[in-house]
Amino acid sequence: MEAKDSDKPTRNFIEEIIDADLAEGRAETVVTRFPPEPNGYLHIGHAVSICLNHGLAQKYGGRFHLRFDDTNPIKEEAAYVEAIKEDVRWLGAEWGGHLHFASDYFDQLYEWAEHLIAAGDAYVDDASAEEIRELRGTLKEPGRESLCRERSPEENLDLFRRMRAGEFGNGEKTLRAKIDMAHPNLNMRDPVLYRIFHAPHHRSGDKWCLYPMYDFAHGQSDAIEGVTHSICTLEFEDHRLLYDWLIAKLPVPHTPRQIEFARLNMTYTLTSKRKLLQLVKEGHVRGWDDPRMPTLRGIRRRGYTPEALRELARRAGVAKRNKVNDLALMEFCLRKDLEERAPRRMAVLDPVKVVITNLPENARESYSGPNHPARPEMGEREVVLTREIYIERADFMEDPPKKYFRLAPGREVRLRYACYVTCTDVVKNDDGHVEEIHVEMDPESRGGSTPDGRKVKGTIHWVSATENVAFESRWYENLFLKEDPNETEEGGDFLKNLNPHSLRVGTGYGEPALAGARPEEKFQFERTGYFCIDPDTTVEKLVVNRTVGLRDTYGKKLQKG
Ligand code: ATP
Ligand code: MG
Repeated sequence: MEAKDSDKPTRNFIEEIIDADLAEGRAETVVTRFPPEPNGYLHIGHAVSICLNHGLAQKYGGRFHLRFDDTNPIKEEAAYVEAIKEDVRWLGAEWGGHLHFASDYFDQLYEWAEHLIAAGDAYVDDASAEEIRELRGTLKEPGRESLCRERSPEENLDLFRRMRAGEFGNGEKTLRAKIDMAHPNLNMRDPVLYRIFHAPHHRSGDKWCLYPMYDFAHGQSDAIEGVTHSICTLEFEDHRLLYDWLIAKLPVPHTPRQIEFARLNMTYTLTSKRKLLQLVKEGHVRGWDDPRMPTLRGIRRRGYTPEALRELARRAGVAKRNKVNDLALMEFCLRKDLEERAPRRMAVLDPVKVVITNLPENARESYSGPNHPARPEMGEREVVLTREIYIERADFMEDPPKKYFRLAPGREVRLRYACYVTCTDVVKNDDGHVEEIHVEMDPESRGGSTPDGRKVKGTIHWVSATENVAFESRWYENLFLKEDPNETEEGGDFLKNLNPHSLRVGTGYGEPALAGARPEEKFQFERTGYFCIDPDTTVEKLVVNRTVGLRDTYGKKLQKG
C-alpha cells in the first residue's frame, strides 16, 4: 500500500540542522528542553513544543530537560510548577533526572553579570524604566545613550553589589549590557539584564532582591545545562543576536544553537495565556480545565489523548512561517486514535420512548455486541432488550421523505444487535408532540436476521427504558464563532466572538454496560460520537462529555484542496 504524503518519514528543517551539527562534530549528544515560565497552565501550543523537543531527544538518543524559566517572582507561582509537571508527564514527555529551574542558576548568573561589568560590557543605569524606553529609539531612529553609560567598571561593580545588598528600591537602578544604542536590532540597544524586585521568589525565598531578565537567564541556562539545540518560537528570532552576544562574552561551558519555528495556531482557538486567564476569571468558562478550553487540562477532560496530541504535533509539523491550522486536523488526530481504542456502547441523548407491543411487560432479552467491531480481543458486552426502550428523537419521522431509512409509520428497522421492529402506532400529546411510538417485533428476527432473508435499510441504536444508566450529557461546540477569535469589528474584543451555545447540558441514557465507567474513560456511542467520562461523576451520577463527532471533516477539506 502506498503511504499518503503526510505519512512519509521526511526530515524537517530542524532535523536537517541537527544532522549537520552531528556530522560536523558541533554536537555529540542531542539535548533539548521545554522551558515554560510557571505563570499559567499549558495549552495545545505548548503541547506541540513539548512533543517536538521530547521527540527529537528520543529520535537522536539524547536528553530532554524540563526547565522552568522562573525569573519573574511577581507573576509566578509554585502551584503552576506542579500543574505543568503533571501535564508534561501526562503527554508522555519524561525528563528523567533533568528537572531544572533557572532560579537554581541565580548565583552563576550573578557571577557572570559581574564578569560583564569587569570587562566593561555592562553598566548600572539610574534611568527609570520609562526613561530607558524613551531613549531606546525606534526602528527608524537610533536610540540615545544614558548618562550613566560611561561609568567605570569599578563604580559599576560597587553599585551592582549594593543593588544586590538591597540598598536601592524597586526600579531605582538596573544593570544593562553595553552594546550599541544605534543598533538596527532594538534588542541590542543596551538591553536591561537585571532589575530590582523586593519580592520573595517561590524557590529562592528572600535570598535575592535582584532578578535576571528572561533574556539574560534563558540562553545562559541552556548553556549551563548543555542544551545543544534551543528550539523556540519565532518571536525569539530577534533575540538570537543578543543571546549569541552574551554567550560569546561569557565563559560558558557550552554554546547552544537556537532554532526558531512557527508557533501553533488553530482555528476557533486562542492560545494567549492572558486571554485564557480572562475567560476563567470572568466566568465565561467553568475553569482552567473546562473541556472547551485549549489548555491541556481542558482538552484532557474533553477526552483528548496524549497519542492524539503527539500525532497532531507530527502532522502540524514544524514550519518556518506562521500559519493557522484547521481545528479539524486536531479532531482528525483524536478520532483516529479513539476509533482504534474506544469501546463501543449504545446511548441515547435525546430520547423518545418506544413500546414493543408484542413483548410482555416483564420481558428481558439478552443480546450481545462486540466492544469493538474490528478488535475481537476486546470482547463483547451484554445488551438488554425490554418492552420499553428509548431511541433518538431524530431516528423517527412521522412523515419521512423517500430517502429516510430510519423509523416511520409502517416502516421496519433493525434495532442494533437485537431484532427487527415495525412501527404500528404513534402516541402524541395535545400539542402534537410525539410521546410514544408503538412497534411490533418480528419474533423470527431475533439476532438480527430473518429466515426469509428480508433486508431492512436502517439500523438504529436504542437503550432499554427500564434497565439503563442515566447520565448528564455535556455537549460542546466551539467556544468561538469565528475562525479567528481575535477578528473583531472596531472597538470590540474577542469576547464578542464567544459562542453562546458552546455548552448544552442534557440527560441521556446508556446501556447497562456503561455502569461503573470511571473518569477519563472514553467510549464511542454508536452512531453519535466519542464521549469521555467527566471527573464530576459520582457514585450517584454519571457525567459524560461529548468529545468529538464521528464524521471527519478534515479529509474532505483536503480533497477539496
Ligand atoms: P508568555 O506570553 O507568557 O511568554 P508563552 O506561551 O510563550 O507565553 P512560555 O511558558 O514562555 O509561554 O512557553 C514555553 C515554551 O512554549 C516556549 O519555548 C514557547 O516558545 C513555546 N510555545 C508557547 N506557545 C506556543 C505555541 N502556540 N506553539 C508552539 N510553541 C509554543
Ligand atoms: Mg514565552
